[in-house]
Amino acid sequence: MIYLDNAATTRPFDSVIACMDRFYTREYFNPSALYAPAMAVASAVKDARAFLCNALGGGGKLYFTSCATEANTWVYHSGVKNKKGNIVVSMGEHASGYENAQNLLSKGYDVRFVRLLQDGRMDANDFLHKIDAQTTLVSVLHCSNETGAVNDLAWIANALRSVAPSALFHSDGVQAFGKMPTDCRALGVDLYSISAHKIGGPKGIGALWVRDGIRLQPLLWGGGQENGARSGTENVAGIAGFAQAYASFRPTDTEKISALRQNMKTVLLSLPHVVVNEAPENSPFILSFSVPKIKAEILQRLLGEKGIYIGLGSACAARHRKNRVLSAMGRTMADIEGSARISFGTQNLQDDMEFAQTEIARIIRQMQDMQ
Ligand code: PLP
Repeated sequence: MIYLDNAATTRPFDSVIACMDRFYTREYFNPSALYAPAMAVASAVKDARAFLCNALGGGGKLYFTSCATEANTWVYHSGVKNKKGNIVVSMGEHASGYENAQNLLSKGYDVRFVRLLQDGRMDANDFLHKIDAQTTLVSVLHCSNETGAVNDLAWIANALRSVAPSALFHSDGVQAFGKMPTDCRALGVDLYSISAHKIGGPKGIGALWVRDGIRLQPLLWGGGQENGARSGTENVAGIAGFAQAYASFRPTDTEKISALRQNMKTVLLSLPHVVVNEAPENSPFILSFSVPKIKAEILQRLLGEKGIYIGLGSACAARHRKNRVLSAMGRTMADIEGSARISFGTQNLQDDMEFAQTEIARIIRQMQDMQ
């Protein structure tokens, strides 16, 4: 099997499984309990929190959530206190941001959607038109899960502060964390969402980094875990596995992945009519491309028969091919139907990639010849 849908999820590292096993088989105590072994578990949670918070540059608090979808939902529903101000959101958000914004819109909030450029980044000029002194929350994802386009968060933060100094600035960093610099203070964000399963960690654990001095109204009330900010017994194994995943995601991998992406891109661009959907600054982990007039679903199925698994853009949107993000980038329906996403992971090997490149090129040519 050659798995090339790592933006949807990744295979957990063996080190992560081993680390989690410890908290299921031996140290399964509730970290809120007061006997010694439970306190050791609480200490493991504390260490993981400090380690991941540090990976985000420190200077804030990290709250664990059940996933990044929860972290994003928390921001949208607690980051806006009343209907007086407006909320500015990019059209490129993952569904877990966009659908929350739609939900607020349906409840009568003033939600403004910022257009995308053709390369997938947020349109900075449109952003400047949409924000004003009444803006209370801005959410712009760091790296697009569809195309890998990277938004310039520091620029957005500066532009926002000069117009609405007290607005909260949130970014969904799920596809960026571990893969590019994510020092939250340098990026200028107030809130930053991350998820473990995109970097070789377990599914079902995410976190929200919150700048010092900001206190979000809880979304979940109860036993007061996470310093009262997010109740619910901690997913200890998930939390420890998240920290272990980050530790196992070696920095040299980015260079290896960039080379894999470049080779695949060269092969794709050697084929007639293929367009790569990318921005000047793009994640090396994601390669989105369109082959007009072919159906990417069929390409995906034919590759699947060879044991090669690629994505069709966001896994959450894969079932309904009306791709909001590619539409916002101005792509035609023919481009959208023919668009697919190859996303790389640390487990991808050069030899496998050569086989995948050959098969992808062969099948695309075959499909084009049948037109
Ligand atoms: N944000 C982005 C950019 C994503 O790619 C994803 C996952 O697909 C999510 C949020 C949701 O993450 P989770 O699966 O942890 O809820």
